[in-house]
Amino acid sequence: MAAPARQEWSMSDFEIGKHIGGGKFGKVYLAREKQSGYVVALKVIYKEKLEKYGFHDHLRREIKIQQALDHPNVLRLFTWFHDEDRVVLVLEYAARGELYKVLQTAGRFTERTAATYVASLADALAYCHKKHVIHRDIKLENLLLDIKGQIKIADFGWAVQSNAKRHTFCGTIDYLAPEMIKGTGHDRAVDNWALGILCYEFLYGSPPFQVEDLENTLRRILRMDLTFPSTPYVSSGAKDLISKLLVKDSSKRLSLEDVMKHPWIKKNAGPSGSCIKQREVKKAKFI
Ligand code: ATP
Ligand code: MG
Repeated sequence: MAAPARQEWSMSDFEIGKHIGGGKFGKVYLAREKQSGYVVALKVIYKEKLEKYGFHDHLRREIKIQQALDHPNVLRLFTWFHDEDRVVLVLEYAARGELYKVLQTAGRFTERTAATYVASLADALAYCHKKHVIHRDIKLENLLLDIKGQIKIADFGWAVQSNAKRHTFCGTIDYLAPEMIKGTGHDRAVDNWALGILCYEFLYGSPPFQVEDLENTLRRILRMDLTFPSTPYVSSGAKDLISKLLVKDSSKRLSLEDVMKHPWIKKNAGPSGSCIKQREVKKAKFI
């Protein structure tokens, strides 16, 4: 791996706080940088696991891509370091955690909340695409909320920096674009598709093509079997936006710039971070 920005970073620079999450390769801890008092999340990845699954290159790419991104709706990767056993990513701390859990508790979001998130995500993805970065795994589980309720795209594990059509099959079933399933080559428009899936999921509480078994979900995506259950909570403007993102022909999907200009977004989106009622949030406590 290439040398980190500041070679001398090590675990001893941080006070380690509570365990806040776990992934396939390691654990995530709340931590505070001793000199500045700055609160961060440390993602600790065990080299043994990286080697076992041959994930070195994958991680190297994730780090290179995420470290070069600086946008209010993209989780910052400040730096990284390693010792004998571990690679440690120093990340922006997203105090309100996973959007997945928030939606689970709420059941569904209001149009104002959904539109605010979609607008923030469209802005962040447009920024990534301008830098030729395609995320390729936009889904609820990869979205976090900071202390103000601002949405943050995390986990660039499947991201790629490229202009050419890609052929690697990646992503998560419910969010897979038709061209990804068919393996005919994909580009940045897979993120626009996933944004359409997310918008639907925000408003209805579950993704549009989800059924019990995997094969039928894939079949429904390929058939474009998109239905909108009748509910007074979802307006025709929202359905219009979703229908313009969930278009089979990837070149005809609504651009991210046009998502931000869409009348439903214009009408409903508040400023980024305004969607969840601002509550007094206690300062992260170290244990
Ligand atoms: P998996 O591949 O299984 O999703 P992973 O190795 O990619 O796991 P992450 O998804 O990055 O690990 O992190 C695991 C969990 O830790 C997240 O789902 C989230 O709950 C928490 N977490 C990760 N990073 C942060 C952060 N910066 N701030 C707050 N919580 C975080
Ligand atoms: Mg993850």
